[in-house]
Amino acid sequence: MFNACEPGLPFSVEILPPNRGLGLRNIHEFFDALGGWKPAFVSVTYHRAHRVEIEGEDGSEWVWNRKNPGTLGVCAMLKFQYGLNVIPHVICGGFSKFDSEDYLVDLDYLGLKHVLALRGDADKNDEQFVAHPQGYAYANQLVEHIVRLNNGVYSEGVNDALPTDFHIGVAGYPEVHSEANDLASDVANLKRKVDAGASFIITQMFFDNAAFFRFVDACRDAGIEVPIVPGIKVLTSKRQLEVLPAIFHTVMPSSLIDAVNACSSDEEVVEVGLNHAEAQTRELLAKGVPGVHFFTMNNSRVFNRLISRMRG
Ligand code: FAD
Repeated sequence: MFNACEPGLPFSVEILPPNRGLGLRNIHEFFDALGGWKPAFVSVTYHRAHRVEIEGEDGSEWVWNRKNPGTLGVCAMLKFQYGLNVIPHVICGGFSKFDSEDYLVDLDYLGLKHVLALRGDADKNDEQFVAHPQGYAYANQLVEHIVRLNNGVYSEGVNDALPTDFHIGVAGYPEVHSEANDLASDVANLKRKVDAGASFIITQMFFDNAAFFRFVDACRDAGIEVPIVPGIKVLTSKRQLEVLPAIFHTVMPSSLIDAVNACSSDEEVVEVGLNHAEAQTRELLAKGVPGVHFFTMNNSRVFNRLISRMRG
């Protein structure tokens, strides 16, 4: 996956579809700013719809709102306009298995060969993830479904069906998924996804490489042999010291927390964040990771600064 990349920069990026109504300007700015440099691949997140209460003429009512629609359109645009390798995220949350299959058929028709199969998070109104009544509760079931399509087996029996050809990635959690009891059981569940047919893993963000190395050792001990791509995020604001651990269950090194707390502006935080991400990335590459995946939040200014440093 990372072979096509500039030597020394085996990087891929995650981007988010824009908020509804904002158009693609920010995405174009991101890729135009790369000046022709191409990441190994671009993964594009999928955002489930949430129930929100709005005030109507007859009182309040619940409606479904998807804040960031457009995963499919963004993927198509990046593939055909920029010639990029694109990996759409595919989630179970809010999807029946028939919806999932329809979405996968669209991806197949667009010639997209890689997907990242995820369960997705809970609806904001629910404490726990609730599967669609006709959908999947865990990502390994979605992987199984995609493998069935790769074998030409569709939900509805189809004569002479053509098989799809998806390479399936899944998520891994160096600091253990929030719902798992411990690393061993979480890795056992990750192995279900690999045994079902996943051929690469992209991890959740982490700020302490020791957690990643422990995780990789646990995966290898459990018999998981597929490439594991570390996910890295550059800190850009003091607020993220609280927000990121709360959302992503990551523990930041105290030296990083102290350095960020000593900053007097977000610009200084970005500098600290870049220093940290650069050190993490260099160590990961030195230890032989297949590549590094950056959670960019569509921030080309920060990502470009990281690339310049890595070239230096
Ligand atoms: P699963 O692999 O299903 O695991 C969920 C939990 O259940 C874990 O605790 C696991 O240990 C346990 N488990 C798994 N299988 C079983 C089983 N068969 N029986 C019992 N327990 C089981 N979310 C989005 O909504 N959109 C995105 O675009 C998105 N992109 C992501 C990208 C990356 C790189 C990562 C790491 C995460 C992303 N997420 C995204 C978040 C992800 O959807 C959540 O972390 C979600 O809570 C779990 O998804 P999963 O695919 O890892 O689930």
